[in-house]
Amino acid sequence: MGDEKRERQSLVEVVCPVCRHTEIISIPKEDIPKCPKCGKRMLVKELLTEGKSY
Ligand SMILES: [Zn+2]
Repeated sequence: MGDEKRERQSLVEVVCPVCRHTEIISIPKEDIPKCPKCGKRMLVKELLTEGKSY
């Protein structure tokens, strides 16, 4: 009963290597985005959570 499947996802901070624009995204739900300013693929800067819900 009530056995809900929870999607494991992690919050990561991504940063643009060019202009240092940062965003917080959840993976694997979201792909690593491209910088809205430069169009460069952003890099994972920091892992904020490891699949833990809060
Ligand atoms: Zn940029």
